[in-house]
Amino acid sequence: MNEHILIVEDETEIADLLGVYLKNDGYTVYTAYNSADALRCIKETHLDLAILDVMLPDGNGFKICKKIREAYYYPVIMLTAKGGDGDKIMGLTIGADDYITKPFNPLEVVARVKTQLRRYTRYNPMDGNRQETANEHDIRGLVINKDTHKCFLYEKELQLTPIEFAILWYLCEHQGVVVSAEELFENVWGEQYLDNNNTVMAHIGRLREKLHETARKPKFIKNVWGVGYTIEA
Ligand code: CA
Repeated sequence: MNEHILIVEDETEIADLLGVYLKNDGYTVYTAYNSADALRCIKETHLDLAILDVMLPDGNGFKICKKIREAYYYPVIMLTAKGGDGDKIMGLTIGADDYITKPFNPLEVVARVKTQLRRYTRYNPMDGNRQETANEHDIRGLVINKDTHKCFLYEKELQLTPIEFAILWYLCEHQGVVVSAEELFENVWGEQYLDNNNTVMAHIGRLREKLHETARKPKFIKNVWGVGYTIEA
């Protein structure tokens, strides 16, 4: 399972080291070195867990945690140099799930991440931010099956290329979540996304044609301007 983790930490060495450990364990890692980038990532990216440093140059981790809790239920782990109980209580009352004091062993962080994710997926299998993995989705007459690799619209089979199928599957799996072009590209193509990349847009266009959709009033794949694409729940 490829879960998405955001690391917010202004000490780049710590952030990058943690990133290496988490990537080694198979997680997709997003890194923000300041609060502004963190908030942008939270808004634009599908995440399963966030690790937040408390002291940031342009804000603090508590504020970011609060912001996350306004919209999401995924686990939040706070990092701080201060081991004070006050900080810990503060973090936990505003909705953080765990608390790690610096200096830490990266392996300990990985272990805590695993524990939190296990808890989260066990207790919130139908959480709106995360769909339970199934091999088939049936969304308003659009049926897509990962085992047979077939897709039907109103019981008529659609001829999709493997890439189109993968895009549609990814969006169906994340129904109700806005997926950025970057996330889509990195998950479907498995390569790093470049800003001037129109590939995703072009494939979405063809996919829409096959779904008989109009860009103005799409029934399935909606554009969220400046953010990405979504299939509404
Ligand atoms: Ca810091």
